[in-house]
This record gives sequence, C-alpha cells and structure tokens, in this order.
Amino acid sequence: MPELPELEVVREVLQRRVVGVTIASVQMIPPGAPIVVRDLTNQGFEKSLIGTTIKTISRRGKYLVFSFQNGEEPLYLVINPKLTGRLQLVRPGEKRRPKTHVVFGLANGRQVRYIDQKQMGQLYLAHHLEVIPGYAEMGPEALEISLEEFRQRLKPYRGEIKGVVMRAEFVAGIGNAYADEILWEARLYPYRKRTQLSADEVEILYKAMRVTLLGAIEKVRVEMQENIDQKPRDFMAVHMKTGEPCPRCGTPISLVGANQRITNFCRTCQPGGLIKGMK
Ligand SMILES: [Zn+2]
Repeated sequence: MPELPELEVVREVLQRRVVGVTIASVQMIPPGAPIVVRDLTNQGFEKSLIGTTIKTISRRGKYLVFSFQNGEEPLYLVINPKLTGRLQLVRPGEKRRPKTHVVFGLANGRQVRYIDQKQMGQLYLAHHLEVIPGYAEMGPEALEISLEEFRQRLKPYRGEIKGVVMRAEFVAGIGNAYADEILWEARLYPYRKRTQLSADEVEILYKAMRVTLLGAIEKVRVEMQENIDQKPRDFMAVHMKTGEPCPRCGTPISLVGANQRITNFCRTCQPGGLIKGMK
C-alpha cells in the first residue's frame, strides 16, 4: 500500500544513504524469499547483486528502481511492495522482524531489509525495465502530467471516478488511500461516473491530485524521517477516518466497502446520493 507520497520519501532517504554504496551480501530467508524474489535475468539473484554498486534509485508509480553499475549490461532491482511490503534501513545488529524475507548487507555498514506480512510484493531483478510485469503499461507520473494530457487521458474511461484515478494505466502512483484523499480535496463523490464530470470538475480534480500528493509528500517527509518502514497517515482527511468529523464541515466520515477495498468520503462535501451498505 505504499503509494506515491510514501515511496517518494523512501526514495529520498535511500538516495541519501545508499547511492554509491556496494552490496556486500544478500541473504534470502526462506520460506518467503523464493515467493517475493523474481530473478528475470536467470543469472542468480544473489550472485548478480553481490559486489555491485548502487548507481541510482528512482521511483516510477509504485515501483522503486535501483540501478547498478555492472559491466556492459544494465542491471535493475525493482521493488513493487504492493499492499504489504516494506523496506527497512537499519544497522546489522538490529533485531530482525518477523516476515523479513531479504536482507541486503551494504559495504557502508547498513542493511536494507525487505519485510512483507503477506508476501504480496515483488523484488524483480532484470536487465530491462520493460520485462517487469505492469511496468511498461503505466501511464505518466501523477505529478508530471499536464492538465491537457490529464483531460485527454481521462476520456476513454467511463466508469466511477475513484476507480479511474486508481488505474496505473491512466496515471501512475495513486492507490486506494490517496484516491479517497484526492476526491475529498476535489469535493467529488467517488462513485460519480467520469462521463458525468464537467470540464471544470476535471480541472478541479487535476488540481486536487497535485495539491493532495505534494502536500502529503511534505507531511510524510516530516513524520517518516529515516524510518522508511513507516507509513504515516494520521494526517489524512478521510481515508481510514470513518465516523470522525470531516476536517472541512464536521460531518462524520462515511464508509463504503470492506477490507482493503474501503472508500471513505464526506457525504456533505462530496454529495452524490446514498450507496447501499454506507455507514
Ligand atoms: Zn465535509
């Protein structure tokens, strides 16, 4: 569930701490490691990484991309944490948490650990980014798209606006939590059909996306510091705030759905009718 703001701050921290550093060891911890690690080079995950130097760390949508200096062929370690994966930057002596699957020992005396409660995330090793599942299909970055491009890309979609905003092929980086926050910021009912949005509302949505994501990056940066396994979300307006007062109007926040697929919104600020199962 890390989305664009959290992963962006994780990238910033790792950029400061591990770029230019050589990987001294790779520990694969069974039984989780074989589930989360995908070696698309077929040359050996550990063997390929040990002794290589981390050249750059970038983020694309909900993927973190480590690139390595390794002879002639490019080499990438791409981490897609999905709903449950987390990275941790620690000293080697730090107690290992349950569900730690991979430990990268760095030559600067730190470790990057991959933890995943449900082994849903993936760590891909590849020579080319296009071979990573879902990577080539991604639309532009949510914070790099222009209003005009946003309008154009929105057109083919006809469904509920929340579902559209979450589609990586439309724009990359937004998941369930930030979709709720963006729609609250835009004062749009999450179940409005895209086809019902006016040109003005599309512009409001675009601006809300930028304001919400940029604001969240700042807040996450302050709260997370270097604890990259954290997912600070207390500052959110509606997501996971069922029953709490809307920060804008005081109406108790509504909830639709269950488990990972919940939607929170304010039925006063985001009017649009009643939904079956709404609390
Ligand atoms: Zn409200």
